[in-house]
Amino acid sequence: MNKLEISIIIPTYCEEGNILPLYSKLISELSHLKISAFEIIYVNDGSTDGSLDKIKELVTQDSRVKYIHFSRNFGHQNALRAGLDYATGNAVISMDADLQHPPEMLPILVNHWREGYQVVYTKRKDTKDLTFFKKLSSKLFYKLVNYLSETKLEEGTADFRLLDRSVVEALKKFKENNLFYRGIVPSLGFKQIGVEYTPHERFSGETKYTFSKMVRFALTGITSSSAKPLYFSIYLGVFLAILSFLYAVYAIYISVFTEKAITGWTSLIASILFIGGIQLVMLGIVGIYLGKLFSESKNRPNYLIEETNL
Ligand code: UDP
Ligand code: MG
Repeated sequence: MNKLEISIIIPTYCEEGNILPLYSKLISELSHLKISAFEIIYVNDGSTDGSLDKIKELVTQDSRVKYIHFSRNFGHQNALRAGLDYATGNAVISMDADLQHPPEMLPILVNHWREGYQVVYTKRKDTKDLTFFKKLSSKLFYKLVNYLSETKLEEGTADFRLLDRSVVEALKKFKENNLFYRGIVPSLGFKQIGVEYTPHERFSGETKYTFSKMVRFALTGITSSSAKPLYFSIYLGVFLAILSFLYAVYAIYISVFTEKAITGWTSLIASILFIGGIQLVMLGIVGIYLGKLFSESKNRPNYLIEETNL
């Protein structure tokens, strides 16, 4: 058994206004739970604001606060990975830095773990606070991922969860680049349980998931859990081939048995553009997988640490 009971890992990207408030809330929850052997690991994902200074301020006050400072921004999922790699607790809790994942949930997560669950994941309840766009995009995201991949993602699950040490060790065996934790964790097995929570509003600052980051995230999510999109081109190709065959039969019939001839510059251009568009999309899909192979084969590090007190 490790000495540390709980590790809390917090990916942090430009969250200077949230670091101290989150810390004090966590400390009060942990003291209610009578947990003293814990560590709080801030993974500073190349913040460009004063986040690192705020974290270092905490480190000088409290030796249980740890930090990993990346050399640049490597993204949320890689920050999580670094946290999991370095955390030493018997249970590891990951949560966002912006207080949207309520620290008041900590007792519920920990109690389920003490009952013997090895994964306690959370599901976000829809609230009015979330913007229409966020709700819509997250709905679409889960629908699409579930349709396209073999493992089922529950709607509203995010990277707010507790993992037992045995699960963390299992996760560390997944060496692939661009890990997509939301897809991997449900597929691991182990004793899992989900709990619902009402998200708070972001305490300070703005969301770091811009539209383009979300689209990328969705594409990584889909392509890292399944190869189904690759089959699309075959289905679509067969479908279009059948259509054009039927059309050819019709055209021959018209020219042989009637006086008319089929005209149609417009329909010709339209169909050429249609097929061209589809081909480009399919090429893009193949390209994503190829790009993944490319980045896997380079086997580059997922993150680079500039500074840490671990
Ligand atoms: N984050 C990160 N690296 C990034 C983007 C975000 O570590 O490149 C962190 C961010 O600081 C926050 C969490 O990931 O703790 C979730 O980001 P955010 O709150 O911006 O996303 P949202 O809640 O709007 O989906
Ligand atoms: Mg957030």
